[in-house]
Amino acid sequence: MEDIISLKNIDYSYYGKIPALKNINLSVRKGEMVAIIGLNGSGKSTLLHIINALLFPDSGEFLFNGNPVSEKSLNDKNLGIKLRQSMGYIFQNPEIQLFCPTVFDELLFAPLQLNMPIEDAEERAEQTLSLLGIEYLKDRPVLMLSGGEKKKVAIASVLTMNPDILLIDEPLSSLDPKTQTFFIDLLIELNHAGKTIVFTTHHLDLIDHLQPRVAVLSEEHTIQKTGTASEILNDEEFLISVNLIHEHVHKHENEVHRHYHSHYIFHKH
Ligand code: ADP
Ligand code: MG
Repeated sequence: MEDIISLKNIDYSYYGKIPALKNINLSVRKGEMVAIIGLNGSGKSTLLHIINALLFPDSGEFLFNGNPVSEKSLNDKNLGIKLRQSMGYIFQNPEIQLFCPTVFDELLFAPLQLNMPIEDAEERAEQTLSLLGIEYLKDRPVLMLSGGEKKKVAIASVLTMNPDILLIDEPLSSLDPKTQTFFIDLLIELNHAGKTIVFTTHHLDLIDHLQPRVAVLSEEHTIQKTGTASEILNDEEFLISVNLIHEHVHKHENEVHRHYHSHYIFHKH
């Protein structure tokens, strides 16, 4: 399968002085599921912004379907429109992506932008509300939603576009455990249906569950290692070296007991 996304030697820093990505090389094939993992501040969100052409690298090259992407090349209508139609970005913070007066308007926005007839757009929006179990929010002003509801509406508003590629920053954030499980299962289904999915996380159990190909960003903003989910999860020494798992010392009765654990979401001390 061809590379749909290809990043070559990419560097990015904010305002030319806060480094966020250094010499990033990463390719994603059509239909793949790829996770970008790393600690806070390692550059995961910045990498998704580059892939969505919201930021442009200081140096290096981003190819979309083999075409170099830059501020200039995106003005070429075909490339710009194709990229925008193909990618749906679910931000970590849903506030950033919601801007319509009501939930239903939010869901209609993308299909109408894509010139879908209004009846079809409405049908798709209704189906998506029902898929996510948020029919009751249909006429609610976006300002009058809880954080979790906003996140569900943000997910719904991207799904109504039916993009080929989903970029998802921290899929589990703001969702309750039941919705997390639902969303994880939905991602598996979407991937089986042929969608390319690139997501970020610092939760190793999500990697265990979804079994994506994994790229690990270090605190120095470089890709330290790529591999299958099991190659990454089984390399305990490596995970310790990038601070994704840490050692815990417990005392049981009078016996000191040491073990490693990751920052698993469902982990309890
Ligand atoms: P992650 O998503 O892995 O937590 P980010 O991509 O958000 O990491 O951040 C990478 C680096 O860039 C961090 O040092 C962060 O402080 C910095 N950074 C992120 N966004 C901005 C911004 N808008 N302005 C300045 N620095 C930023
Ligand atoms: Mg982030």
